[in-house]
Amino acid sequence: MGKQTIEDLDLPTLEGRVVLVRADFNAPLDEQGRVADDTRLTSTLPTLEVLISAGARVVVLSHLGRPGGRVEPALSLAPVAEQLSSLMNATVEFCRETVGREADEARSNLEAGEVLLLENTRFHPEETANDPQWAARLAEGAYVFVNDAFGTAHRAHASTEGVARAIRSRGGVAVAGLLMALELRFLSDALADPQRPFVVVLGGAKISGKIDVIDALLPRVDRLIIGGAMANTFLMALGLEVGDSLVEKDRVAVAREVLEKGGDKVLLPVDVVVATDIKETSVTCTVPRESVRPDDRIGDIGSESSALFSQELASAETVLWNGPMGVFEMPPFARGTLEVARSAAAAADAGKMVILCGGDTAAAAESAGVAARLTHISTGGGAALELLAGGELPGVVALNDRTEVS
Ligand code: ADP
Ligand code: MG
Repeated sequence: MGKQTIEDLDLPTLEGRVVLVRADFNAPLDEQGRVADDTRLTSTLPTLEVLISAGARVVVLSHLGRPGGRVEPALSLAPVAEQLSSLMNATVEFCRETVGREADEARSNLEAGEVLLLENTRFHPEETANDPQWAARLAEGAYVFVNDAFGTAHRAHASTEGVARAIRSRGGVAVAGLLMALELRFLSDALADPQRPFVVVLGGAKISGKIDVIDALLPRVDRLIIGGAMANTFLMALGLEVGDSLVEKDRVAVAREVLEKGGDKVLLPVDVVVATDIKETSVTCTVPRESVRPDDRIGDIGSESSALFSQELASAETVLWNGPMGVFEMPPFARGTLEVARSAAAAADAGKMVILCGGDTAAAAESAGVAARLTHISTGGGAALELLAGGELPGVVALNDRTEVS
């Protein structure tokens, strides 16, 4: 990776010094306001542990939800601090301010090896506006900034990009945390020159959010497999009936272009699971893709398709998968996604590199019980897609380059 990471820091020099960490603790909360899924917390623990062991005074920033620049008590990070404390078996101090007198005081009271979480950065309009003065205020007292918030790295916000600039402008250093470095290693470095065959599986709800990814990857892949509702638009581009399925009519031309450019590389479902309604209790049948009727809705890929896709995965050296093959949340339409998940895991078991991204795809891997067997599951949805589309992440660009001596 071209950027400095926490591993490039001279750790003993951090003892007793404030280190500012941007984490992505944007975790889902349950009805009682507790953290419902702590994946985002646990994935940043390795970074926090390195800093704690070095005796740093660790100040953590994060956003939660979309409070739109106003204080919204239901989106306080307090429950995150609580959950983090129990995960780390140590008290994580929490301050109900992001910047201000209380935050300053909490920071100066922090002892070596202690962690302080500041309140939701998005309670302030300056965060998303990337206000430089406010970023400088966030950065106060810190000479080291560690960005571990991969999931937010595609946003140039005050707590991601602004603080890095503020700290560097006064001689400090901004580096990637361990999670950030891991994500970049798999989603950027590993895929830049993948072992071949390189097979990409795309699915999910829409083409529109992912067309840049298709464009960027198509010339580089050996196979592009398309499933999910996204495939419906491609089937329509082939002139096939898709009935009442979820489809993006305004993207049919785009799909046709992909098919023309991709030729044999592009693999679409050959059969589909249809029902008159997409619901938990739907009665389904599997039909060849040519036999969809006007009142059908396509909810999954058929068994011939999943067998075909699985075969491709079995002969791949590198697999990248984003987007479920069907409405996997509902049992009648889950089979295609689960089967692809199992084939992906089998490829990983055989030593192949298998990388997943996307929140729903990760959830599908969990429900298939194969998550732990895969090479890497990205914690970043939008950021991962941005990287795969060949874009640069502002939160990463702002970090010190490897070649810079600090
Ligand atoms: P990810 O979060 O992994 O990037 P997306 O958000 O793009 O994935 O898409 C996931 C959603 O796509 C799921 O909620 C799933 O139900 C939906 N989906 C997949 N196939 C279909 C389909 N045939 N019809 C309707 N929705 C679908
Ligand atoms: Mg999603």
